[in-house]
Amino acid sequence: MKRIHFASEHESFRNVFREYLQREVVPHTEAWERAGIVPRSAWRNAGQAGFLAMWADEEYGGTGIRDFRFDQVVAEELSAISEGGLVLPLQSSIVAPYLDRFGTREQKKRWLAPAVSGEAVLAIAMTEPGAGSDLAGMTTRALDQGDHWVLNGTKTFISNGINGDVVIVAAKTDPSDPRRIGLFIIEAGMAGFERGRKLDKLGHRSQDTAELFFRDVKVPVSNVLGDPRKGFSYLMEMLAPERLTEACISVASARAAFDVTLIYTKARNAFGQPIGDFQHNRFKLADMKTEIDVGQVFVDRCVMDFNAGELTAEIAAEAKLWTTELLWRVVDQCVQLFGGYGYMWEYPITRMFANARVHRVWAGSSEIMREIIGRSLG
Ligand SMILES: Cc1cc2nc3c(=O)[nH]c(=O)nc-3n(C[C@H](O)[C@H](O)[C@H](O)COP(=O)(O)OP(=O)(O)OC[C@H]3O[C@@H](n4cnc5c(N)ncnc54)[C@H](O)[C@@H]3O)c2cc1C
Repeated sequence: MKRIHFASEHESFRNVFREYLQREVVPHTEAWERAGIVPRSAWRNAGQAGFLAMWADEEYGGTGIRDFRFDQVVAEELSAISEGGLVLPLQSSIVAPYLDRFGTREQKKRWLAPAVSGEAVLAIAMTEPGAGSDLAGMTTRALDQGDHWVLNGTKTFISNGINGDVVIVAAKTDPSDPRRIGLFIIEAGMAGFERGRKLDKLGHRSQDTAELFFRDVKVPVSNVLGDPRKGFSYLMEMLAPERLTEACISVASARAAFDVTLIYTKARNAFGQPIGDFQHNRFKLADMKTEIDVGQVFVDRCVMDFNAGELTAEIAAEAKLWTTELLWRVVDQCVQLFGGYGYMWEYPITRMFANARVHRVWAGSSEIMREIIGRSLG
């Protein structure tokens, strides 16, 4: 089915980006996985090539073109090569938009511009050892000291936790009101900010996920993002594009898994015929293809709704729920079709399987997506 929301400029961009990935990323994927981290030079390289937060205003180094279809292309092409470490959408479509939306001009010059050029790697820290889904349960606190704030707490599972130069940290700001949260921009090198170990994960093995510790970190007021009492509503607003990004990644990852599996089922023989010729397997492939195509149409529509400023939190949750569950069903079936080879790291489907599992958990679990959708039904 022809995708109708892309124009020629998106397809041209896709070709350029795809070529960039083949040249600058694919040759390094395995080495980065072995190292458990993507070198900072890869982020700089991507920024210099113009692939980070391209939507930012020209003043900050971007194109000023706000069209999520370009973000979608980036997410899709990275998913097509199963790149699990150089997660450009985390910087471009998830974290940098906070700086753009709530930052002052001065803050954008300091942190958005280097995020666009690739000089700065960004991270966002909401989750804590004792509070993930239930963000209101966070215990990280920031105390107002007049000309600065003092931040104390621990965050965990933070993507780009090791490489990150600029971390947006969510913290409670009013001891008498647990719903008052602020967002604080913490920079590498600030006294009292320490990184824990790089966490050993099932998938996305080249992404540096880490714990972060904040002990009496003195945060200047110039590092407070927006109103320090309104962080909750900021998070709620920005979680919709985060979930849309996840949906774009998930449906594209499902298609990538399907594509390699289709080729395999035509080449692998059992009982004297290609395994894809057995009706049972042909039906499985037909089901997967159908679900991916149907899911794609929904995601593409969400992208256009987002461009029009009409994507609601509930619809973004539907997109995330459906596509991440779809991805999981698809990769599991694909591994089955690969037989024992699907369990071996030298086959790409194994990496796809390992990377896929977290999508039903991070950026809000499937259960939380169902809560958001269910609550809206009254
Ligand atoms: C690799 C990785 C990278 C991550 N990157 C980041 C990052 O960059 N920044 C960041 O802030 N966080 C990050 N996270 C954290 C992620 O968003 C959380 O893990 C996720 O929100 C779930 O929180 P939790 O792990 O504390 O699980 P919990 O909240 O403890 O949930 C455990 C289980 O209980 C279920 N559950 C919870 N509440 C309900 C409910 N009301 N009804 C039904 N079921 C419920 C959940 O769905 C889940 O199945 C990352 C996580 C991983 C694994």
